Amino acid sequence: MINGRKIKRIGAGALILLGVTTSEYQAGHYTSGRTDIQKYEASMERKSSDLVLAKQEKVREEIREMAQKQETVLGIKHFEKPKISFEPNQENTLRDVTGTYNQEKDEIWIDLSRYSSGTLSHELGHFYVDKLNESLNNKNWRYKKGFLSFLESLFSDDRGTKLVAEGIADYFKHKTKGDTLSSGLNYKSFDEYLNEDGGSDAYAEIGYKLVAPILDRGINRGIETLTRNLPTNRDLKSLVKYQQRVLRIVEQNSSKVKITTKP
Ligand SMILES: [Zn+2]
Repeated sequence: MINGRKIKRIGAGALILLGVTTSEYQAGHYTSGRTDIQKYEASMERKSSDLVLAKQEKVREEIREMAQKQETVLGIKHFEKPKISFEPNQENTLRDVTGTYNQEKDEIWIDLSRYSSGTLSHELGHFYVDKLNESLNNKNWRYKKGFLSFLESLFSDDRGTKLVAEGIADYFKHKTKGDTLSSGLNYKSFDEYLNEDGGSDAYAEIGYKLVAPILDRGINRGIETLTRNLPTNRDLKSLVKYQQRVLRIVEQNSSKVKITTKP
């Protein structure tokens, strides 16, 4: 009995399958097959562009949340909201990055398929530094992060600027995430680091070690002091000395503030 029922069920299933197959074939045969494919493709395109829009909205929300988290963890207040772009961008693809910040446009660009929360936090760090410097009217700070300036950096020497900029952005990333990294500088000169592990992340990694103790004394004061005293080529030969010099300036300024605020 059981076997008989099973056979009946299988038979019915096969008939249904056959029916569906036949009617689909007929529909395809009598109407224009190409139109059906085009309709199908159009509906798939709509679905995928809906998915992309949904993902973009999700990233916008993640950026808002990350900015709030940074405010809580770092004790800062973001000046405004950044513009956000997801457009495929040859400049950024060539550099193989998952996110960038464009200082001229005040715009964060995110690679939707590869970004991480760390990317968002890092780029928000660049954005904050830019806005803080605009508010301070800091003319010394001319950090450009475009591809052309990347090329320029190979010939001219804005390595010190890049080191500080990437270091500060990574400080935002690591502190917000709660990473505990050793902040000690192991080597004397920047070149020694580059020889050791000179990957594309070297600027962020070493920059972080360089700026962390300075920013720990107060983020805004640290950023201001760093960007007004960017490392020269000579400083890059002796990073610890440079770090100590900036720390002294930070401390002098803070003691000056104390004196002037005394009644
Ligand atoms: Zn960066």
